[in-house]
Amino acid sequence: MHMLQSSDGYGFLALFVGVTAVASWIAPMLLGKVRRHRKNHLDAARERELYFQTMAEALPEIIWTADPDGADDYFNKKCFDYTGLTLEQMKGTGWTVIVHPDDLTMCAEKWKNALRTGDPYDVEYRLRAKDGSYRWFLGRANPIRNAEGEIIKWFGTCTDIENQKQNQQNLEDQILERTAQLADVNTRLQEEMLEKDFARKELDQQNERMMSELRERTQRATMLAKMGELLQSCISRDEVFAGALGFAPKIFPAAPGAIALLDASRSVAEVIGSWSDCQLPAAVFEPAACWALRTGHPHLVVAGDSTAPCTHAVGVKNTYLCIPILAQGETLGILHIQATEGAPHIESSDLSLKTTFAGQVGLSIANIRLREALRTQSVRDALTGLYNRRYLEEVLEREVRRAARAAQCLGILMIDLDHFKNFNDTYGHDAGDAVLRETAMFLSKGIRAEDFVCRFGGEEFVVILPTADMEASRARAERLRLKMRELTVMHLGKSLGMVTISVGVASFPQHGMSPKELMASADAALYEAKRGGRDQVAVASAKASEEVGIPDAAKSAAGWS
Ligand code: GH3
Ligand code: MG
Ligand code: MG
Repeated sequence: MHMLQSSDGYGFLALFVGVTAVASWIAPMLLGKVRRHRKNHLDAARERELYFQTMAEALPEIIWTADPDGADDYFNKKCFDYTGLTLEQMKGTGWTVIVHPDDLTMCAEKWKNALRTGDPYDVEYRLRAKDGSYRWFLGRANPIRNAEGEIIKWFGTCTDIENQKQNQQNLEDQILERTAQLADVNTRLQEEMLEKDFARKELDQQNERMMSELRERTQRATMLAKMGELLQSCISRDEVFAGALGFAPKIFPAAPGAIALLDASRSVAEVIGSWSDCQLPAAVFEPAACWALRTGHPHLVVAGDSTAPCTHAVGVKNTYLCIPILAQGETLGILHIQATEGAPHIESSDLSLKTTFAGQVGLSIANIRLREALRTQSVRDALTGLYNRRYLEEVLEREVRRAARAAQCLGILMIDLDHFKNFNDTYGHDAGDAVLRETAMFLSKGIRAEDFVCRFGGEEFVVILPTADMEASRARAERLRLKMRELTVMHLGKSLGMVTISVGVASFPQHGMSPKELMASADAALYEAKRGGRDQVAVASAKASEEVGIPDAAKSAAGWS
């Protein structure tokens, strides 16, 4: 066995003992030739050997020696006590049987190498105890050389380092355990960091999404406000619808839709326009076909839900929403919005935007209605429904300019009911009103679509005949006069008798170049008709106003002075 003890004082002592022991072998060889001192030398050698053996047996290590060729020839008792083997079994290479099989190759290599090089070495390996268990030993082998430097012996020690190994193993185990724990903690930390990183990224993405949604909503709200502003300035329903249908795809880019409106009788709704290729099976439908029209509230139909679908949207597979368009509490129609495959939900957050959209359209239509009512009130006469005098002036101004531009004629008939005061006096004011209404209706029916009939005031009416020359105007006046005689006005079940009219005719350009001149000429002609006995037509004469010389009273009655 090829070992020396560990790095404490024993190693040095063993080396010392070894050297001493080797000396005890070498001495006889050296002294063998010196016969006269032989006895003394033998004694000394035995003494040294005894000394070595005593020392070797006293040491706690296993001590061994071997020949230069590597065959073991000595082991101390410690060795036999531990291994349970005898010197005979251990001698030579017998010791190899107690080396742990896993360490044997390495031990044999080292020993072989040492024998070849003559260098000392140490090695750790396991040796089998007599109970069959193994313990770790530190083996050291040192060559002992003679004066010529030749190896004459190998001296070795085997120090039990089992406890040391055990401690080392424990330490390594602890280090491994700690390293594993640290790696575990590290992995957890990394996982936590990854999770946090992931959560942060998720949060960032969510933030980004929310920000872009907010931006988009703001844009859409701005667009809606713009639309509202524009619709408020519309002067006709068509303008309102064109504006709404133009803005709709910009405000609801992901949702196709349509606008449907009830007709005047409110018995039919009609789709007046759509955007983003909205598919609606029915272009015209009854109000009962839409729940929003029925209830006056928004109606959402989620895809696949057959609880209360709108029949006007039958066959629409995606989710859809109908919102009533209201004006002053009255339902005018619906805003219909559909989801798409790409955006299958109608977000409730969007509902307010859509309701506002419908509200804007409703408000604008209400505005238009108001304008129309005001306009009607401002241009129509309340009793007869004919255009009033203010409108007459507007129309006449326009028509005279047009006639002048087109070098065309224009006729004016100034009509006054004869002895109208008598109707009031005889039958009462209401009967007089009935005569006025019937006359208005009669005159309206008796003119062409391009003509205008106005109530000029009291029981006077003016008819404007664009493009009609003097003769045509006179003929029309005559026809009206004659037909008027056939009119029967009934009041409270009683006929009020015949109503006759006197008519003054003036023609552009013969009787005046301006509305004022023309009206004065017509008025003068009317005056002539009255003076001529009533129930007749009088045509103005050229420069009538100067020649005839209209009386001031007549002028002021006509309102042209
Ligand atoms: P003449 O043949 O000369 O035109 O006689 P006249 O009675 O028709 O004319 P006059 O100017 O004397 O009387 C017109 C009357 O018309 C006086 C007025 O009370 C009446 N009148 C004016 N406006 C209305 C109205 O809106 N309703 C009713 N019932 N009468 C009106
Ligand atoms: Mg009159
Ligand atoms: Mg009159």
